[in-house]
Amino acid sequence: MSEIRPALTILSEDEQAFREAIREFAEAEIKPHVTHMDEAAKMNPEIIQKLFEMGLMGIETPEKWGGAGATFTMACLAVEELGRVDGSVSVLCDVQNTLVTNAFLKWGTEAQKEKYLPKMAKEWVGAYALSESSSGSDAFALKLRADAKGDKYILNGSKLWITNGNEADVFICFANLDPAKGYKGITAFVVEKSFPGFKVGKKEDKLGIRASSTCELLFENCEVPASNVLGEVGKGYKIAIETLNEGRIGIGAQMVGIAQGAYEAALGYVKGREQFGKPIAHFQGVQFQLAEMRTQLEAARLLVYNAARLKDAGQDFIESAAIAKLYASRAAEKITSTAVDLFGGNGFTKEYPAEKFWRDAKIGQIYEGTTNMQLQTIAKIELDK
Ligand SMILES: Cc1cc2nc3c(=O)[nH]c(=O)nc-3n(C[C@H](O)[C@H](O)[C@H](O)COP(=O)(O)OP(=O)(O)OC[C@H]3O[C@@H](n4cnc5c(N)ncnc54)[C@H](O)[C@@H]3O)c2cc1C
Repeated sequence: MSEIRPALTILSEDEQAFREAIREFAEAEIKPHVTHMDEAAKMNPEIIQKLFEMGLMGIETPEKWGGAGATFTMACLAVEELGRVDGSVSVLCDVQNTLVTNAFLKWGTEAQKEKYLPKMAKEWVGAYALSESSSGSDAFALKLRADAKGDKYILNGSKLWITNGNEADVFICFANLDPAKGYKGITAFVVEKSFPGFKVGKKEDKLGIRASSTCELLFENCEVPASNVLGEVGKGYKIAIETLNEGRIGIGAQMVGIAQGAYEAALGYVKGREQFGKPIAHFQGVQFQLAEMRTQLEAARLLVYNAARLKDAGQDFIESAAIAKLYASRAAEKITSTAVDLFGGNGFTKEYPAEKFWRDAKIGQIYEGTTNMQLQTIAKIELDK
Protein backbone atom coordinates (compact mmCIF):
# COMPACT_ATOMS: atom_id res chain seq x y z
CA MET A 1 0.00 0.00 0.00
CA SER A 2 1.34 3.46 -0.82
CA GLU A 3 2.27 5.65 2.09
CA ILE A 4 0.26 8.80 2.79
CA ARG A 5 2.49 11.67 3.79
CA PRO A 6 1.25 14.68 5.75
CA ALA A 7 1.19 18.10 4.13
CA LEU A 8 3.85 20.36 5.66
CA THR A 9 2.75 23.70 4.39
CA ILE A 10 2.37 26.24 7.21
CA LEU A 11 4.93 29.07 7.11
CA SER A 12 6.99 29.88 10.19
CA GLU A 13 7.30 33.47 11.46
CA ASP A 14 10.77 33.75 9.90
CA GLU A 15 9.50 32.53 6.56
CA GLN A 16 6.57 34.94 6.70
CA ALA A 17 8.90 37.86 7.51
CA PHE A 18 11.22 36.82 4.68
CA ARG A 19 8.29 36.73 2.26
CA GLU A 20 7.08 40.17 3.38
CA ALA A 21 10.55 41.69 2.97
CA ILE A 22 10.74 40.38 -0.60
CA ARG A 23 7.23 41.60 -1.38
CA GLU A 24 8.19 45.11 -0.23
CA PHE A 25 11.41 44.98 -2.20
CA ALA A 26 9.69 43.74 -5.37
CA GLU A 27 6.99 46.40 -5.16
CA ALA A 28 9.48 49.22 -4.60
CA GLU A 29 12.47 48.19 -6.70
CA ILE A 30 11.16 45.93 -9.47
CA LYS A 31 7.58 46.95 -10.26
CA PRO A 32 8.46 50.40 -11.65
CA HIS A 33 10.68 48.74 -14.30
CA VAL A 34 8.49 45.81 -15.33
CA THR A 35 6.70 47.30 -18.35
CA HIS A 36 9.85 48.78 -19.82
CA MET A 37 11.86 45.58 -19.33
CA ASP A 38 9.11 43.59 -21.05
CA GLU A 39 8.96 46.01 -24.00
CA ALA A 40 12.74 46.22 -24.31
CA ALA A 41 13.15 42.46 -23.71
CA LYS A 42 16.01 43.27 -21.38
CA MET A 43 16.69 42.78 -17.69
CA ASN A 44 17.66 45.96 -15.85
CA PRO A 45 21.18 45.26 -14.47
CA GLU A 46 20.45 47.39 -11.39
CA ILE A 47 17.76 44.90 -10.40
CA ILE A 48 20.28 42.05 -10.55
CA GLN A 49 22.61 44.11 -8.37
CA LYS A 50 19.79 44.62 -5.87
CA LEU A 51 18.98 40.90 -5.84
CA PHE A 52 22.58 40.30 -4.76
CA GLU A 53 22.36 43.04 -2.12
CA MET A 54 19.13 41.52 -0.76
CA GLY A 55 20.87 38.15 -0.38
CA LEU A 56 18.52 36.54 -2.90
CA MET A 57 21.20 35.08 -5.16
CA GLY A 58 22.66 32.62 -2.64
CA ILE A 59 19.69 31.73 -0.49
CA GLU A 60 20.80 28.20 0.38
CA THR A 61 24.52 28.96 0.24
CA PRO A 62 26.02 28.56 3.73
CA GLU A 63 27.00 31.79 5.49
CA LYS A 64 30.70 30.83 5.43
CA TRP A 65 30.54 31.29 1.65
CA GLY A 66 28.64 34.55 1.85
CA GLY A 67 25.14 33.13 1.39
CA ALA A 68 22.01 33.37 3.51
CA GLY A 69 22.27 29.78 4.79
CA ALA A 70 18.51 29.37 4.40
CA THR A 71 16.34 26.53 3.12
CA PHE A 72 15.06 25.39 -0.26
CA THR A 73 11.57 26.41 0.88
CA MET A 74 12.86 29.97 1.44
CA ALA A 75 14.31 29.96 -2.08
CA CYS A 76 10.88 28.98 -3.40
CA LEU A 77 9.24 31.76 -1.39
CA ALA A 78 11.63 34.26 -2.97
CA VAL A 79 10.92 32.94 -6.47
CA GLU A 80 7.18 33.12 -5.78
CA GLU A 81 7.23 36.68 -4.44
CA LEU A 82 9.39 37.92 -7.33
CA GLY A 83 7.03 36.17 -9.76
CA ARG A 84 4.08 38.07 -8.31
CA VAL A 85 5.67 41.21 -9.72
CA ASP A 86 7.74 39.91 -12.63
CA GLY A 87 8.16 36.41 -14.04
CA SER A 88 11.51 37.28 -15.62
CA VAL A 89 13.22 38.45 -12.44
CA SER A 90 11.69 35.42 -10.75
CA VAL A 91 13.25 32.91 -13.17
CA LEU A 92 16.63 34.63 -12.99
CA CYS A 93 16.62 34.12 -9.23
CA ASP A 94 15.17 30.62 -9.62
CA VAL A 95 17.89 29.34 -11.95
CA GLN A 96 20.57 30.92 -9.76
CA ASN A 97 19.30 29.22 -6.61
CA THR A 98 17.40 26.05 -7.40
CA LEU A 99 19.57 24.85 -10.31
CA VAL A 100 23.08 26.31 -10.32
CA THR A 101 23.80 26.92 -6.63
CA ASN A 102 21.96 23.74 -5.79
CA ALA A 103 24.16 21.74 -8.18
CA PHE A 104 27.35 23.23 -6.70
CA LEU A 105 26.17 22.51 -3.16
CA LYS A 106 25.32 18.92 -3.93
CA TRP A 107 28.01 17.92 -6.44
CA GLY A 108 30.83 20.45 -6.14
CA THR A 109 34.26 19.63 -4.69
CA GLU A 110 35.35 21.76 -1.72
CA ALA A 111 37.61 23.73 -4.09
CA GLN A 112 34.73 24.37 -6.52
CA LYS A 113 32.44 25.46 -3.70
CA GLU A 114 35.14 27.80 -2.30
CA LYS A 115 35.73 29.30 -5.71
CA TYR A 116 32.21 29.65 -7.09
CA LEU A 117 29.71 29.90 -4.24
CA PRO A 118 31.02 33.18 -2.73
CA LYS A 119 31.08 34.74 -6.21
CA MET A 120 27.57 33.53 -6.94
CA ALA A 121 26.26 34.90 -3.65
CA LYS A 122 27.71 38.35 -4.34
CA GLU A 123 28.24 39.10 -8.03
CA TRP A 124 28.08 36.20 -10.47
CA VAL A 125 24.92 35.07 -12.20
CA GLY A 126 24.68 31.38 -13.10
CA ALA A 127 23.07 29.47 -15.97
CA TYR A 128 22.23 25.83 -16.50
CA ALA A 129 22.81 24.46 -19.99
CA LEU A 130 21.30 21.10 -20.85
CA SER A 131 19.00 21.64 -23.88
CA GLU A 132 20.11 21.72 -27.50
CA SER A 133 18.28 22.23 -30.79
CA SER A 134 17.75 18.49 -31.25
CA SER A 135 17.46 17.47 -27.59
CA GLY A 136 14.75 18.97 -25.39
CA SER A 137 12.43 16.44 -23.76
CA ASP A 138 14.91 13.79 -24.88
CA ALA A 139 17.64 15.66 -23.02
CA PHE A 140 20.19 12.86 -22.98
CA ALA A 141 20.37 12.81 -26.78
CA LEU A 142 22.56 15.92 -26.37
CA LYS A 143 25.39 16.36 -28.86
CA LEU A 144 27.76 18.83 -27.19
CA ARG A 145 31.03 16.90 -27.39
CA ALA A 146 33.82 16.84 -24.79
CA ASP A 147 37.27 15.37 -25.42
CA ALA A 148 40.03 14.94 -22.86
CA LYS A 149 43.29 16.68 -23.74
CA GLY A 150 46.03 16.71 -21.08
CA ASP A 151 44.73 18.49 -18.01
CA LYS A 152 41.84 20.00 -19.97
CA TYR A 153 38.65 19.07 -21.73
CA ILE A 154 37.81 20.51 -25.13
CA LEU A 155 34.12 21.23 -25.79
CA ASN A 156 32.61 21.54 -29.26
CA GLY A 157 28.99 22.12 -30.24
CA SER A 158 26.16 24.32 -29.02
CA LYS A 159 23.34 24.71 -26.51
CA LEU A 160 19.97 26.35 -27.02
CA TRP A 161 17.36 28.04 -24.83
CA ILE A 162 19.70 28.91 -21.99
CA THR A 163 18.08 31.17 -19.38
CA ASN A 164 20.34 33.96 -18.04
CA GLY A 165 22.62 33.43 -21.08
CA ASN A 166 23.30 37.15 -21.44
CA GLU A 167 23.77 37.89 -17.76
CA ALA A 168 25.61 34.76 -16.62
CA ASP A 169 29.27 34.57 -15.64
CA VAL A 170 29.24 30.84 -14.99
CA PHE A 171 27.45 28.03 -16.83
CA ILE A 172 26.89 24.41 -15.85
CA CYS A 173 27.12 22.66 -19.21
CA PHE A 174 26.33 19.05 -20.01
CA ALA A 175 28.46 17.40 -22.69
CA ASN A 176 29.10 13.85 -23.83
CA LEU A 177 32.64 12.49 -23.45
CA ASP A 178 31.88 9.15 -25.01
CA PRO A 179 28.77 9.04 -27.21
CA ALA A 180 29.25 5.26 -27.63
CA LYS A 181 28.25 4.95 -23.97
CA GLY A 182 25.02 6.88 -24.56
CA TYR A 183 23.77 8.77 -21.52
CA LYS A 184 26.57 7.26 -19.42
CA GLY A 185 29.03 9.46 -21.34
CA ILE A 186 27.31 12.64 -20.18
CA THR A 187 29.44 14.80 -17.89
CA ALA A 188 28.76 18.18 -16.27
CA PHE A 189 31.33 20.96 -16.73
CA VAL A 190 31.64 24.34 -15.04
CA VAL A 191 32.33 26.84 -17.81
CA GLU A 192 33.21 30.45 -17.13
CA LYS A 193 32.16 33.11 -19.61
CA SER A 194 35.81 34.04 -20.16
CA PHE A 195 37.00 30.54 -21.11
CA PRO A 196 38.64 30.46 -24.55
CA GLY A 197 36.31 29.13 -27.26
CA PHE A 198 33.10 29.96 -25.41
CA LYS A 199 30.60 32.46 -26.79
CA VAL A 200 27.00 33.44 -26.09
CA GLY A 201 25.03 33.39 -29.36
CA LYS A 202 21.64 34.70 -30.41
CA LYS A 203 18.96 35.67 -27.92
CA GLU A 204 15.39 34.47 -28.50
CA ASP A 205 12.55 36.96 -29.05
CA LYS A 206 9.82 35.45 -26.88
CA LEU A 207 6.10 35.51 -26.10
CA GLY A 208 6.58 35.86 -22.35
CA ILE A 209 9.24 36.33 -19.67
CA ARG A 210 10.70 38.64 -22.29
CA ALA A 211 13.20 40.34 -19.97
CA SER A 212 14.73 36.98 -19.13
CA SER A 213 17.44 36.27 -21.70
CA THR A 214 17.15 32.89 -23.45
CA CYS A 215 20.29 32.29 -25.47
CA GLU A 216 22.25 29.98 -27.66
CA LEU A 217 25.72 29.03 -26.37
CA LEU A 218 28.54 28.26 -28.78
CA PHE A 219 31.57 26.11 -27.99
CA GLU A 220 34.42 26.11 -30.47
CA ASN A 221 37.38 24.18 -29.03
CA CYS A 222 36.33 25.61 -25.68
CA GLU A 223 38.97 24.81 -23.07
CA VAL A 224 37.77 23.69 -19.66
CA PRO A 225 40.25 22.72 -16.91
CA ALA A 226 39.88 19.11 -15.72
CA SER A 227 39.26 20.50 -12.22
CA ASN A 228 36.00 21.99 -13.57
CA VAL A 229 34.23 18.66 -13.99
CA LEU A 230 31.21 18.86 -11.68
CA GLY A 231 30.61 15.55 -9.91
CA GLU A 232 32.01 12.43 -11.51
CA VAL A 233 32.92 11.91 -15.15
CA GLY A 234 30.03 10.05 -16.80
CA LYS A 235 27.58 11.00 -14.03
CA GLY A 236 26.24 14.14 -15.68
CA TYR A 237 22.92 12.44 -16.40
CA LYS A 238 22.42 11.88 -12.67
CA ILE A 239 23.26 15.50 -11.88
CA ALA A 240 20.83 16.69 -14.58
CA ILE A 241 17.97 14.48 -13.37
CA GLU A 242 18.45 15.25 -9.69
CA THR A 243 18.91 18.97 -10.16
CA LEU A 244 15.85 19.27 -12.37
CA ASN A 245 13.76 17.21 -9.94
CA GLU A 246 14.42 19.97 -7.40
CA GLY A 247 14.40 22.85 -9.86
CA ARG A 248 10.90 22.16 -11.04
CA ILE A 249 9.54 22.95 -7.58
CA GLY A 250 11.01 26.41 -8.16
CA ILE A 251 9.14 26.68 -11.45
CA GLY A 252 5.97 25.72 -9.58
CA ALA A 253 6.73 28.60 -7.19
CA GLN A 254 7.28 31.00 -10.09
CA MET A 255 3.87 29.99 -11.48
CA VAL A 256 2.16 30.52 -8.11
CA GLY A 257 3.71 34.00 -7.96
CA ILE A 258 2.58 34.93 -11.48
CA ALA A 259 -0.93 33.61 -10.77
CA GLN A 260 -1.06 35.58 -7.49
CA GLY A 261 -0.09 38.77 -9.29
CA ALA A 262 -2.82 38.24 -11.90
CA TYR A 263 -5.41 37.35 -9.27
CA GLU A 264 -4.72 40.48 -7.21
CA ALA A 265 -4.86 42.68 -10.29
CA ALA A 266 -8.21 41.17 -11.32
CA LEU A 267 -9.63 41.47 -7.81
CA GLY A 268 -8.80 45.17 -7.75
CA TYR A 269 -10.21 45.77 -11.21
CA VAL A 270 -13.61 44.13 -10.71
CA LYS A 271 -14.26 46.28 -7.66
CA GLY A 272 -13.75 49.47 -9.67
CA ARG A 273 -15.15 48.65 -13.11
CA GLU A 274 -18.89 49.42 -13.41
CA GLN A 275 -21.38 47.91 -15.84
CA PHE A 276 -25.16 47.88 -15.58
CA GLY A 277 -24.81 50.61 -12.92
CA LYS A 278 -22.75 48.51 -10.50
CA PRO A 279 -19.17 47.31 -9.99
CA ILE A 280 -18.82 44.07 -11.97
CA ALA A 281 -17.73 42.39 -8.71
CA HIS A 282 -21.41 42.61 -7.78
CA PHE A 283 -22.37 39.94 -10.34
CA GLN A 284 -22.38 36.37 -9.14
CA GLY A 285 -20.88 35.17 -12.43
CA VAL A 286 -17.79 37.31 -11.76
CA GLN A 287 -17.66 36.29 -8.10
CA PHE A 288 -17.61 32.64 -9.09
CA GLN A 289 -14.76 33.28 -11.52
CA LEU A 290 -12.78 34.88 -8.67
CA ALA A 291 -13.60 31.99 -6.34
CA GLU A 292 -12.33 29.48 -8.93
CA MET A 293 -9.11 31.43 -9.37
CA ARG A 294 -8.56 31.67 -5.63
CA THR A 295 -9.17 27.94 -5.15
CA GLN A 296 -6.75 26.93 -7.92
CA LEU A 297 -4.17 29.33 -6.50
CA GLU A 298 -4.47 27.86 -3.02
CA ALA A 299 -4.18 24.29 -4.32
CA ALA A 300 -1.12 25.16 -6.45
CA ARG A 301 0.58 26.94 -3.56
CA LEU A 302 0.01 24.07 -1.14
CA LEU A 303 1.38 21.54 -3.64
CA VAL A 304 4.49 23.65 -4.20
CA TYR A 305 5.14 24.26 -0.49
CA ASN A 306 4.58 20.62 0.29
CA ALA A 307 7.10 19.49 -2.33
CA ALA A 308 9.62 22.06 -1.06
CA ARG A 309 9.12 20.95 2.54
CA LEU A 310 9.58 17.30 1.61
CA LYS A 311 12.85 18.18 -0.10
CA ASP A 312 14.05 20.17 2.92
CA ALA A 313 13.07 17.29 5.21
CA GLY A 314 15.19 14.88 3.14
CA GLN A 315 12.13 12.85 2.21
CA ASP A 316 11.19 11.49 -1.18
CA PHE A 317 9.82 14.44 -3.13
CA ILE A 318 10.15 13.52 -6.81
CA GLU A 319 6.52 12.71 -7.52
CA SER A 320 5.33 15.65 -5.39
CA ALA A 321 7.63 17.96 -7.36
CA ALA A 322 6.25 16.76 -10.70
CA ILE A 323 2.67 17.06 -9.44
CA ALA A 324 3.34 20.56 -8.08
CA LYS A 325 4.91 21.78 -11.33
CA LEU A 326 2.22 20.18 -13.48
CA TYR A 327 -0.64 21.60 -11.45
CA ALA A 328 0.84 25.04 -10.73
CA SER A 329 1.72 25.69 -14.37
CA ARG A 330 -1.75 24.69 -15.56
CA ALA A 331 -3.40 26.68 -12.77
CA ALA A 332 -1.29 29.73 -13.64
CA GLU A 333 -2.36 29.56 -17.27
CA LYS A 334 -6.04 29.32 -16.27
CA ILE A 335 -5.89 32.00 -13.57
CA THR A 336 -4.03 34.49 -15.75
CA SER A 337 -6.40 33.81 -18.65
CA THR A 338 -9.44 34.46 -16.45
CA ALA A 339 -7.74 37.65 -15.29
CA VAL A 340 -7.58 38.79 -18.94
CA ASP A 341 -11.30 37.95 -19.27
CA LEU A 342 -12.21 39.92 -16.15
CA PHE A 343 -10.41 43.02 -17.44
CA GLY A 344 -12.58 42.83 -20.59
CA GLY A 345 -11.15 44.74 -23.57
CA ASN A 346 -8.62 46.37 -21.25
CA GLY A 347 -7.27 42.90 -20.48
CA PHE A 348 -6.23 42.60 -24.11
CA THR A 349 -4.15 45.76 -24.03
CA LYS A 350 -0.66 46.48 -22.77
CA GLU A 351 -1.96 49.36 -20.65
CA TYR A 352 -3.16 46.85 -18.07
CA PRO A 353 -1.12 44.10 -16.40
CA ALA A 354 -3.30 41.07 -17.18
CA GLU A 355 -1.96 40.18 -20.65
CA LYS A 356 1.65 40.11 -19.43
CA PHE A 357 0.84 37.76 -16.57
CA TRP A 358 -0.86 35.46 -19.10
CA ARG A 359 2.09 35.58 -21.52
CA ASP A 360 4.54 34.96 -18.66
CA ALA A 361 2.55 32.00 -17.32
CA LYS A 362 2.72 30.02 -20.57
CA ILE A 363 6.36 29.01 -20.17
CA GLY A 364 5.56 27.03 -17.00
CA GLN A 365 4.23 24.14 -19.07
CA ILE A 366 7.32 24.02 -21.26
CA TYR A 367 10.61 24.44 -19.40
CA GLU A 368 12.20 22.10 -16.86
CA GLY A 369 10.12 19.30 -18.38
CA THR A 370 6.96 19.86 -20.41
CA THR A 371 3.53 18.98 -19.07
CA ASN A 372 3.71 15.63 -20.88
CA MET A 373 7.06 14.89 -19.25
CA GLN A 374 5.60 15.61 -15.78
CA LEU A 375 2.67 13.31 -16.56
CA GLN A 376 5.14 10.65 -17.67
CA THR A 377 7.13 10.96 -14.42
CA ILE A 378 4.01 10.76 -12.25
CA ALA A 379 2.61 7.79 -14.18
CA LYS A 380 5.92 5.92 -14.02
CA ILE A 381 6.22 6.40 -10.27
CA GLU A 382 2.63 5.26 -9.76
CA LEU A 383 3.01 2.18 -11.96
CA ASP A 384 6.31 1.22 -10.29
CA LYS A 385 4.76 1.27 -6.81
C1 LIG B 1 12.08 30.44 -22.30
C2 LIG B 1 12.82 29.16 -22.20
C3 LIG B 1 13.84 29.02 -21.28
C4 LIG B 1 14.55 27.82 -21.20
N1 LIG B 1 15.61 27.72 -20.31
C5 LIG B 1 16.41 26.62 -20.36
C6 LIG B 1 17.60 26.56 -19.59
O1 LIG B 1 17.95 27.50 -18.85
N2 LIG B 1 18.39 25.46 -19.69
C7 LIG B 1 18.06 24.41 -20.50
O2 LIG B 1 18.83 23.44 -20.54
N3 LIG B 1 16.92 24.42 -21.23
C8 LIG B 1 16.09 25.51 -21.19
N4 LIG B 1 14.94 25.55 -21.95
C9 LIG B 1 14.61 24.43 -22.81
C10 LIG B 1 13.39 23.67 -22.32
O3 LIG B 1 13.70 22.93 -21.17
C11 LIG B 1 12.87 22.83 -23.48
O4 LIG B 1 12.33 23.71 -24.44
C12 LIG B 1 11.85 21.81 -23.04
O5 LIG B 1 12.44 20.80 -22.26
C13 LIG B 1 11.12 21.16 -24.23
O6 LIG B 1 12.02 20.72 -25.18
P1 LIG B 1 11.80 21.08 -26.74
O7 LIG B 1 11.64 22.57 -26.81
O8 LIG B 1 12.91 20.49 -27.50
O9 LIG B 1 10.43 20.44 -27.10
P2 LIG B 1 10.20 18.92 -27.57
O10 LIG B 1 10.94 18.00 -26.67
O11 LIG B 1 10.43 18.84 -29.02
O12 LIG B 1 8.65 18.76 -27.28
C14 LIG B 1 7.63 19.22 -28.16
C15 LIG B 1 6.30 18.64 -27.69
O13 LIG B 1 6.35 17.22 -27.78
C16 LIG B 1 6.00 16.63 -26.54
N5 LIG B 1 6.75 15.40 -26.35
C17 LIG B 1 8.07 15.18 -26.59
N6 LIG B 1 8.40 13.92 -26.27
C18 LIG B 1 7.28 13.32 -25.82
C19 LIG B 1 6.96 12.03 -25.32
N7 LIG B 1 7.88 11.08 -25.21
N8 LIG B 1 5.69 11.78 -24.93
C20 LIG B 1 4.74 12.73 -25.02
N9 LIG B 1 4.97 13.97 -25.48
C21 LIG B 1 6.22 14.28 -25.87
C22 LIG B 1 6.36 17.70 -25.49
O14 LIG B 1 5.61 17.50 -24.31
C23 LIG B 1 6.00 18.98 -26.23
O15 LIG B 1 4.63 19.25 -26.07
C24 LIG B 1 14.20 26.74 -22.02
C25 LIG B 1 13.15 26.88 -22.95
C26 LIG B 1 12.48 28.06 -23.06
C27 LIG B 1 11.39 28.19 -24.08
